[in-house]
Amino acid sequence: MLFINFNLSCNKATFNLGYWFTGYGLIGGGSDIFLNTGILHPSITNCQPPIFASMKQIEHTTHITVYEHNSELTPADATLLQRSRSAMSHSHSPYSHYPVGAALLLNDGTMVEGSNQENASFPLGLCAERTALANFAINHPGKTVDAIAVSVGSEAAAPCGMCRQALLEQESRQENPIRVLLKGSEEHVYEIGSIKELMPLPFYSKNLKKTTPST
Ligand SMILES: [Zn+2]
Repeated sequence: MLFINFNLSCNKATFNLGYWFTGYGLIGGGSDIFLNTGILHPSITNCQPPIFASMKQIEHTTHITVYEHNSELTPADATLLQRSRSAMSHSHSPYSHYPVGAALLLNDGTMVEGSNQENASFPLGLCAERTALANFAINHPGKTVDAIAVSVGSEAAAPCGMCRQALLEQESRQENPIRVLLKGSEEHVYEIGSIKELMPLPFYSKNLKKTTPST
């Protein structure tokens, strides 16, 4: 017998959000073969996927250091944060009313800034992190980025997915981690050691190897 099992050990129907792919496996005895492609949301309790010997879990860890106040930062980082804060004043954000400032610390100590630039054609808008990256790429070729600071006027916010991908490209090219400093209206500052820590299962240029549809 061949069963396609979507929900073997779950007492609720949960075919929305996320997925949990457990591969193929034999469960039960006799000649029963279950093709297990359970589509379950991992976070739903009472809903455990079947356990197979071939299964494994990969953990992705993000270390976030929380500084209670600017004064705990190195002078260079405190200055970088201040530069990102100042860059907010150059934001063009008449639609979101959400100014964002970013500042990059380069390997020679230079700092370059960026701010979000919105457009009446909304998809054209650029985040502060990517305008800072463009500023860096054009004006400082050959240097590398040691850190990025991002400031907002409300609760501290991490770079959006698109900016994480853009920063990851730079981090990959320079083969050196880019630290991330985040600050909002609160006193505390968040620090993450690299962009990669913000990107589980990252998409790199190496993923673009030529393939055929059958591979
Ligand atoms: Zn962004």
